[in-house]
Amino acid sequence: MSWLKNSTLAKKGITKPEGDVLVEKIPLRLKPEEEVLAREIQRESARVWNTVMTIHRLFWLRYGIWIDEAMMKEFLKGRFEVHSQDVQAIVETYYECWERTKKLHKEGHTEWRYPWRLKRYFTPTWKVTGITAEDGYLRLSNGWKKPPLKVKLPERLKGLKIKQVQLVWRRNGYWLHIAVVKPALEKVQGDIVAAADPGEVHALTLTDGKEALVISGGHLRSLHRLRNKTLRKFQKALSRCKKGSNRWRKLLEAKYRFLNWVEAQISHVEHAITKMAVDWCVERGMKKVYIGDPQGVRKQDCGRYHNQRMHQWDFGRLRDFLGYKLNRHGIALEQIKEGSTSGTCPVCGHYTKQSGRVFRCGNCGFSGVHRDVVGASGILDLAVNGRFTEGRDLPRKVVYLRPSVLAPVAKKCRKAAAA
Ligand SMILES: [Zn+2]
Repeated sequence: MSWLKNSTLAKKGITKPEGDVLVEKIPLRLKPEEEVLAREIQRESARVWNTVMTIHRLFWLRYGIWIDEAMMKEFLKGRFEVHSQDVQAIVETYYECWERTKKLHKEGHTEWRYPWRLKRYFTPTWKVTGITAEDGYLRLSNGWKKPPLKVKLPERLKGLKIKQVQLVWRRNGYWLHIAVVKPALEKVQGDIVAAADPGEVHALTLTDGKEALVISGGHLRSLHRLRNKTLRKFQKALSRCKKGSNRWRKLLEAKYRFLNWVEAQISHVEHAITKMAVDWCVERGMKKVYIGDPQGVRKQDCGRYHNQRMHQWDFGRLRDFLGYKLNRHGIALEQIKEGSTSGTCPVCGHYTKQSGRVFRCGNCGFSGVHRDVVGASGILDLAVNGRFTEGRDLPRKVVYLRPSVLAPVAKKCRKAAAA
């Protein structure tokens, strides 16, 4: 699950009144004939893209005029075997791309190319009039010459308003990206400020100065480890077979299957973690949450193993999930430079490089509090006061939680790792 960022939907401002628009990504299991249809729609969409590009260029070369978007849409009407809104969506994408390049060229970035590549496949888009949801099925219309594509709608999407659907090829199969409207949530009325410290051992540590919540990152870390380990195995096995051979193809299939599965698991845990953090914030009536930016931490060279460990830790996604979810409750998330927060002593302000999980000051000897709690409290101090306050109070109550994840991991993991 993710949300629309730069998409046309968000830009046109039609998302605001009814609620929040989210994009749900669901993998498809298509029958052979449906797969053929999907491919045909993609090819036809590519034909639209190629035609728009060719006409746009040709008219400029021959007559010195740039055809505008409205004229292009009018000209292409009824000429393709896809839904008319798909044609329009492709024209819009083309013009967006073209305008953006034009702007960049004006600013002197002439290395950006105008759209030029002829495509074989293009992602088709369905908008409201091309989509019907009935009896738990999603019916995507393809104009009157082609049959519609029918897809079973997942339980969680039933009854939700659907704004847009895209058919996307990813790795080894088709996915639907469905933009749905989720009802707006009640906004929190509070004025408390909190800080969050993302980390590896503890995925998130939150504090409002009085209390702290520490959410374990162990499960997430083990999934990342499994992902890398298994991927390495696949890579090794793949390198031993002849490219294109039967064995090679089977391995590739298995690798994709594994990746799809493990990534779904990872995102599930990330959702569980951020949900816990958001619930904690909502309960306490937060207005704003500051989050440490571990960019600086990640850039340091800490040896091969540590580097790889830090690399798998996809902090950006966790932050995006958190920011988005907080936002739905009207809570702002602001990023601040983390720097030396977890090493600076809350009592004397002296910086000590930390090696253990429990904070230990090399100057005054202060110890006994978890280092991530000190880190989060430091971020809060830095955000609110602009500097570290000597002798600041640390949260008195610390709660440790594990992300509540439903799916049993162990069995499936072993099977995947053995493949
Ligand atoms: Zn100290």
